[in-house]
Amino acid sequence: MNLSERLSSVRKRISDATETAGRPEGCVKLLAVSKRKPAGDIRAAYEAGQRDFGENYVQELREKQEALEDLKDLRWHMIGQLQRNKIKYISGWIDSLHTVDSLRLTETLLQRLETSPRDRLLRAMVEVNVSGEDSKSGCRPDELGAILRAAENSSQLSLCGLMTVPPRAEDPQAARPQFDRLRDLRDEHGGVETLPELSIGMSRDLEVAIAAGATWVRIGSAIFGER
Ligand SMILES: *Cc1c(COP(=O)(O)O)cnc(C)c1O
Repeated sequence: MNLSERLSSVRKRISDATETAGRPEGCVKLLAVSKRKPAGDIRAAYEAGQRDFGENYVQELREKQEALEDLKDLRWHMIGQLQRNKIKYISGWIDSLHTVDSLRLTETLLQRLETSPRDRLLRAMVEVNVSGEDSKSGCRPDELGAILRAAENSSQLSLCGLMTVPPRAEDPQAARPQFDRLRDLRDEHGGVETLPELSIGMSRDLEVAIAAGATWVRIGSAIFGER
């Protein structure tokens, strides 16, 4: 399969899973994760109709943004861990950030956005480490409240949802309890009205994520091939 065929097959998996879950058509958005893939692959996916792309590393993101500057309606999402000293490189350039993982990062983001106001809102999700595994990034569940409160009154930063990366497992269903826990946390912190987005699900477990309520699935290898 070429890239455009793989993209179509991912779209089909998403729409089938959405239907199986009894959820409204189109409620799950596809984020194409292009880390470690060349800008040419992103352009090919763009030509096949994809508009949202996720990158993990600031430097790589900036290089690809430059190479693809002519694609004006392409939207960039940062999905990797963001160091506070790198905020300046992304704050004006991305549509959304999926990995707000601490109160300190939230506070620094707010400061940065205040001193260099953007013309649009930065939408962001809080990444939560629901499994409690040491190796995983994300805040602890008990830190979530303080992070959400810090940005509550901001007109520049909107914390609009939650994100998690489950531990690697052979069986995609193994992620289900993590996804359900994230949803419970959403319910404990204002529910779907306050936190409409759930960024969960990757190539291997997108069906499980959609059954659990995903609004964003982040798909890399199923579109661009193995890294
Ligand atoms: C790489 C990555 C993905 C995509 O993973 P695939 O298994 O290739 O679909 C999704 N989310 C995050 C945070 C990633 O780092």
